[in-house]
Amino acid sequence: MFVKGLECTACGLEHDSSRLQNLCRSCGKPLFAIVDLAAASRTMTRESLPGRERSLWRYREVLPLPSDVEPVSLGEGGTPLLRASRACRTDDVDLWIKDESLNPTQSFKARGMSVAVSMAKHLGAKKLAVPSAGNAAAALAAYAARAGIEAHIFMPRDTPRANVVECRETGAHVTLIDGLITDCGAEIARRKESEAWFDMSTLKEPYRVEGKKTLGYELAEQLNWELPGVVLYPAGGGTGLIGMWKAFDEMETLGWIGKKRPRMFAVQAAGCAPIVRAFEAGEKSAVEFPNAHTIASGLRVPKAIGDFLMLKIIRDSNGGAIAVEDEEMIRVTREVGAKEGLFVCPEGAACFVALKLLRSARKIASGERVVIFNTGSGIKYLETYDRG
Ligand SMILES: *Cc1c(COP(=O)(O)O)cnc(C)c1O
Ligand SMILES: [Zn+2]
Repeated sequence: MFVKGLECTACGLEHDSSRLQNLCRSCGKPLFAIVDLAAASRTMTRESLPGRERSLWRYREVLPLPSDVEPVSLGEGGTPLLRASRACRTDDVDLWIKDESLNPTQSFKARGMSVAVSMAKHLGAKKLAVPSAGNAAAALAAYAARAGIEAHIFMPRDTPRANVVECRETGAHVTLIDGLITDCGAEIARRKESEAWFDMSTLKEPYRVEGKKTLGYELAEQLNWELPGVVLYPAGGGTGLIGMWKAFDEMETLGWIGKKRPRMFAVQAAGCAPIVRAFEAGEKSAVEFPNAHTIASGLRVPKAIGDFLMLKIIRDSNGGAIAVEDEEMIRVTREVGAKEGLFVCPEGAACFVALKLLRSARKIASGERVVIFNTGSGIKYLETYDRG
């Protein structure tokens, strides 16, 4: 086992990692896996990596699945880090794009679900349930199918059509709800006992964040162990942001990187910006955002259970939180597409808008190295873009 145990991110209470766990049984906050880094470092060195498989399982020793158990994998991770071409010159920064649209099911949700479904299967789960605004559903459906486990998916009725169809075609049980992702989560919470579902919601089980942390390992490896100055991340539930930060700490303990961290920015939609509001108000946690609406369905998370973790990271890193209008995301998608040859998702587009705003506000200096996460593909959002 590479995991020593589970620890509550808020109260520190330890939990047994040899059985299925959701939230802290004392305070109800998310649990983190404590990785045995001393053991990991015996076989996993920076030098050992180039000869390994390209998927995120190349970081096997810092992932929770025991070494003799076969992962549930569709080839996730190992995505390109592209140097931006012309956008780079116009915005006067050293811009890189981590293109997560190349993952199975076309979004970075595949990273989290590969690891979380692997662990759920290993620990004996038979039926998995998830509330999703879109891409998490498609990823769970695919990995559950691959694992031979049932997937029960709850999505808002106005979820981008491609995700709904994709889930059905990969064998999931799909229920559409008149409401938001939080309403979908409440429906699962109501029924999970009687239906014997294991709840796979963002940060409500400990291993999706372990899959997402490989974003941090990959970023460091692809930049030759020199982290960028700034990271722009489209934040919904925040697993990628929180996972990367965990990866940076682990890599420092492993002696792979130093103390320097990127300034981490959470990019949200103006119609659903609970983290931006809390950040600006100086709060440690966020209140539910009223009347949440945005075409960037991955950002339509009015209340995130990991809010306090995100807020601490963006403050500790001297980063920030910024909101972007939907119309700007749509406009910039075509601009990025024409300049870079990438059909980005609205969430990824939001980061390009944020870059312009942060440059004008002089919060990003000229010449700084900036990494944008394009977390999914525009192909999943045809109804948003197909306007003639
Ligand atoms: C889910 C999602 C996000 C937000 O990710 P979190 O881990 O919830 O912060 C961003 N972009 C896309 C395309 C997504 O599907
Ligand atoms: Zn706790």
